[in-house]
Amino acid sequence: YCKMNGRHGLLFYTDQMNEYYNDLVSLEGDLREAISKNELELYYQPKVDIISGQISGMEALVRWHHYEKGFIPPNKFIPLAEETGLIVQVGEWVLKEACRQNEEWMSLGYAPERVAVNVSAVELQRHDFSARVKRILEETGMPPQHLEIEITENSIMQNTEECIKTMQELKAMGISLSIDDFGTGYSSLGYLRKFPINFLKIDQSFIKDVETDPSDAEIVKAMIQLGHTFQMEVVAEGVETASILEFLEEIGCDLYQGYHYSRPLPPHEFEKMLMPKRRYEVSAPASVPSPK
Ligand code: C2E
Ligand code: MG
Ligand code: MG
Ligand code: MG
Repeated sequence: YCKMNGRHGLLFYTDQMNEYYNDLVSLEGDLREAISKNELELYYQPKVDIISGQISGMEALVRWHHYEKGFIPPNKFIPLAEETGLIVQVGEWVLKEACRQNEEWMSLGYAPERVAVNVSAVELQRHDFSARVKRILEETGMPPQHLEIEITENSIMQNTEECIKTMQELKAMGISLSIDDFGTGYSSLGYLRKFPINFLKIDQSFIKDVETDPSDAEIVKAMIQLGHTFQMEVVAEGVETASILEFLEEIGCDLYQGYHYSRPLPPHEFEKMLMPKRRYEVSAPASVPSPK
């Protein structure tokens, strides 16, 4: 939105901004409608264990197909939803739908039975967040051990003490926690130690050129070490090629996501990649602790 900062703000209020503002307002109304008409959808992207090559979980990513404007990416409407408070309804829907879908796949006998949901800072800062998550788990019958919540590094740092408290409540329920887009925020090492985090997800901007840019390679190696020091598993985001994957394996990264394995897919397509639980357990290698 354009900020009308008194006299000076008005000077900058141009037709172009007016148009932008009107766009956002109509988009807000449309989003409100999209939620109530069930026009949002979840796509899923696998999280893959680098050593075994098996899918160990999946990340739910929200999609909005606007009836007129077509596909609107989450990077555009999530910030809008955060500003307007609509994120609470969006987040509620996403969490419920991800749990429902995971339950359905579990009841069909599919592995890996584990879904990750992105949660924004605005949701996390509400005092009733963990109570809401608990209610949704009860309503959908989903065991908390099958849920993972992804929180960006930046959103944790917005209200750190409050966030740590909420994270501890979620952790105590048995939910796994991930720190998303790691490396793009400014968390201090002191804080990192306090976070009850299971997974550290290295932002894709460090992964893209990791083979060719020596400083990116050093940063990624350091982040893997850091994660392991704090007993976290490290996930690389945005892995697009086999050679990047090979490099990550060499330097001891635990998991990856990216177009190289699969783009995020709608449920009926994602389902084809899942395996029957029994076969999955038989074919999975014995869990020898990897040297770290
Ligand atoms: P994120 O959680 O970091 O998700 C990863 C993004 O990278 C996704 O974009 C995914 O489609 C994309 N991606 C995955 N593999 C690759 C790859 O190999 N190369 C490239 N270039 N990109 C890849 P997407 O789905 O557009 O989502 C963008 C962001 O929007 C997410 O970043 C997350 O912060 C937010 N978001 C998505 N769904 C939700 C949601 O349900 N709730 C909230 N609060 N935020 C969401
Ligand atoms: Mg994420
Ligand atoms: Mg990310
Ligand atoms: Mg992101």
